[in-house]
Amino acid sequence: MGKPTGFIEYSRELAQDRFADERALDYLEFHLTLSDDRLTSQAARCMSCGLPFCHTGALISGMASGCPLNNLIPEWNHLVYNGLWKEALHRLSKTNNFPEFTARVCPAPCEGSCTLALREAPVTIKQIEYAIIERGFEEGWILPTPPPVRIGKRVAVVGSGPAGLACADQLNNAGHWVTVFERADRIGGLLMYGIPNMKLDKRVVERRVDLMAAEGVVFVPNTEVGVDLAASQLLAEFDAVVLCGGATRPRDLRIEGRELAGIHLAVDFLSADTRSMLDDDGIGDWVSARHKDVIVIGGGDTGTDCVATAIRHGCNSVAQFEILPELPLRRLPSNPWPEWPRILKVDYGQEEALVAFGKDPREYCVQTKRFVGDSQGRVREAHTVRVEVGRDDRGGMKFTEIRGSEQRWPAQLVLLAMGFLGPEEGLLNQLGVERDGRSNVKAPYDKFTTNVPGVFAAGDMRRGQSLVVWAIREGRSAAREVDRYLMGTTALA
Ligand SMILES: Cc1cc2nc3c(=O)[nH]c(=O)nc-3n(C[C@H](O)[C@H](O)[C@H](O)COP(=O)(O)OP(=O)(O)OC[C@H]3O[C@@H](n4cnc5c(N)ncnc54)[C@H](O)[C@@H]3O)c2cc1C
Ligand code: SF4
Repeated sequence: MGKPTGFIEYSRELAQDRFADERALDYLEFHLTLSDDRLTSQAARCMSCGLPFCHTGALISGMASGCPLNNLIPEWNHLVYNGLWKEALHRLSKTNNFPEFTARVCPAPCEGSCTLALREAPVTIKQIEYAIIERGFEEGWILPTPPPVRIGKRVAVVGSGPAGLACADQLNNAGHWVTVFERADRIGGLLMYGIPNMKLDKRVVERRVDLMAAEGVVFVPNTEVGVDLAASQLLAEFDAVVLCGGATRPRDLRIEGRELAGIHLAVDFLSADTRSMLDDDGIGDWVSARHKDVIVIGGGDTGTDCVATAIRHGCNSVAQFEILPELPLRRLPSNPWPEWPRILKVDYGQEEALVAFGKDPREYCVQTKRFVGDSQGRVREAHTVRVEVGRDDRGGMKFTEIRGSEQRWPAQLVLLAMGFLGPEEGLLNQLGVERDGRSNVKAPYDKFTTNVPGVFAAGDMRRGQSLVVWAIREGRSAAREVDRYLMGTTALA
């Protein structure tokens, strides 16, 4: 424990983000960092509890409580407080292959279960994680370290999102030859084409991919396994295959008017936007929100990314529909510590909308009934109704329309951000891989084995739509099981 009285002496302090009106003019990251001495004070707030919940990663009420990677948080807080940054990096790297990703995009369940959060604001764990890893890169402490010995086994990883990257990194460290196949033109999965640049700069993704390539991982972009490369060939040429293809089947909204021009899936909108930015040609197939009234359907993180992107395009207005009611400002008794706090947050996109249009864009308990088009077949309006949310006889959600609450919203661009249904079927059918009741790949969490010998699965493809931190956790754990399968034993954690 760095300083026994730290949590009494210091209050929680976060670095000021770039101002909303300034950052909405570009795609640069908006989080800034604290100075070293202020970070040290923040690390001093850690109480090094006898039983720290921040790194348990347990599922309570279906939600992560504590860090799913079991990051050794009290240890690195202690080291940062004592100025031992390199040692802190060493501890952090023991459990997390890519702290530079989690420190930017993780919702930080660790902070929700920090013991200090029982009475006070939690330790700024995510910010300290960011400082440790970025210092490591700045100081030149993070260099390619290829494995000293190669074992001669060959592993194929399908999909280069955080699960595939973590799995590849671990197996490469263990001395296996790893090839990562990716159908997109760039490596990174949703880290590259999904999460917008202002949350996660694509140079940060490329920096890690370059490092892994220098350590011996082979990346093969522009190759869809099952289409460009037969699944049977993969099985014949590799000793093991790990499926990390994500949960890429988006949930659509099949209502009247869905066929109108100007209605897009959120992930298509966001990925085309990033591709156009990276290709630096400003053309491509990206959809502009400029001078448009934009409706985003879906109140989650993806919806918020759409709001922020539309504002950067220069939209006329933006509304974000959520079918569920607004969350409370404080935890309800039914959602006690150390559970993930289900409370209202104002994320970056909403903050920017508040500054640009003077209003939080979120509209709650809204169900979209139909889209109406103009004579050219382009969307012109969205028609909605408010709903009362209750429970049916079997405990499921029940939405009852409120009479007289119908509304018409001007809309020249509609973005559907309602989540994902599960993995795509093609490759899985070719391999004969079984699915579970939710259409994800059937592979037990502790084993990651499918019904096909030598074929493993991890990340959103196995778990369903989730978080980057869980994808890394799954990729690491799957690598451990692949190593055990190939070698009969494993030293991977
Ligand atoms: C817009 C958006 C924003 C998000 N924001 C956050 C956030 O802020 N924080 C957070 O924690 N999580 C966020 N998430 C969720 C997070 O990105 C995912 O949970 C995570 O990326 C899943 O990792 P994965 O490796 O399992 O799959 P993915 O990242 O989906 O990667 C799968 C990859 O597999 C490739 N692939 C699929 N099939 C094949 C094939 N047959 N051959 C070759 N390649 C194939 C795909 O092209 C893709 O690149 C967000 C998701 C979206 C959509
Ligand atoms: S990975 Fe996420 S949950 Fe784990 S310590 Fe970092 S911010 Fe917290």
